[in-house]
Amino acid sequence: MFRNPEVSRLLAISPHLDDAALSFGAGVAEAAQDGVKVTVYTVFAGTAPPPYSPVAEEMHEVWGLSPEDDAPLYRRKEDAAALGHLGVDHRHGRFLDSIYRRSPDGRWLTDRVVGPTQDERRPGIDPDLVAEIRDDIKSVIEEIDPTLVVTCAAVGGNRDHVTARNAALFAARDKNVPIRLWEDLPYALFGKARAVELPDGFGLGSPDFAPVGAEVRTRKFEAVAKYPSQLGMLDGPERNLFARLEEYSRKTSPQHEYGETTWPVVH
Ligand SMILES: [Zn+2]
Repeated sequence: MFRNPEVSRLLAISPHLDDAALSFGAGVAEAAQDGVKVTVYTVFAGTAPPPYSPVAEEMHEVWGLSPEDDAPLYRRKEDAAALGHLGVDHRHGRFLDSIYRRSPDGRWLTDRVVGPTQDERRPGIDPDLVAEIRDDIKSVIEEIDPTLVVTCAAVGGNRDHVTARNAALFAARDKNVPIRLWEDLPYALFGKARAVELPDGFGLGSPDFAPVGAEVRTRKFEAVAKYPSQLGMLDGPERNLFARLEEYSRKTSPQHEYGETTWPVVH
């Protein structure tokens, strides 16, 4: 798809600091190599004021930080290094990861850790938050003037992924920019159904598997390794993230190649 000369500026909307690299790192790296100007805007990259929820403090420790550390600041630095390695620009949104958010009644939104291997309880999606993110994405679109927007399909139903995806769908439609959705990794590796439910008025086209060469695949894996805070959860002896990414891709690919899957969005 990136050999398409009509794509000259690409805006990738990443829910968290690492999703674009994990799910679409090869896609953005290859686009950048082909001369496309690529910007990755990460929605939930904001720093939360303390106090933190018990889940957030637990996550900080899992990430190798102190409970009271400004983890998003640390993660933004990881992101800048990873995306720089892929040859693309980065922008960091102001929104707070769900582990830092409260419900309208003041309680913490998340009372347990939900990683890619766990099932999210039916996440309630906050329409006001979707609307705020949609406005910010529209400002980024006005500035960057992308010829294509790509974001996650929210395979696995993570609350932040669904929220960011819906905001991106609405913003791209408002701005009349075509949009594609990437398959969420590593969610898809852990047997998450590929079935995704889009808001009314949006549908998924046919999946498009885009193979890349070994050099681009290696660059993606090197970029993912630049998020050490996240690798403790995603990788390690039991998880073998990189081997599983390879294996999953070669199973998906008709030619047993490494690549990533995206879908066009139809109205
Ligand atoms: Zn994520």
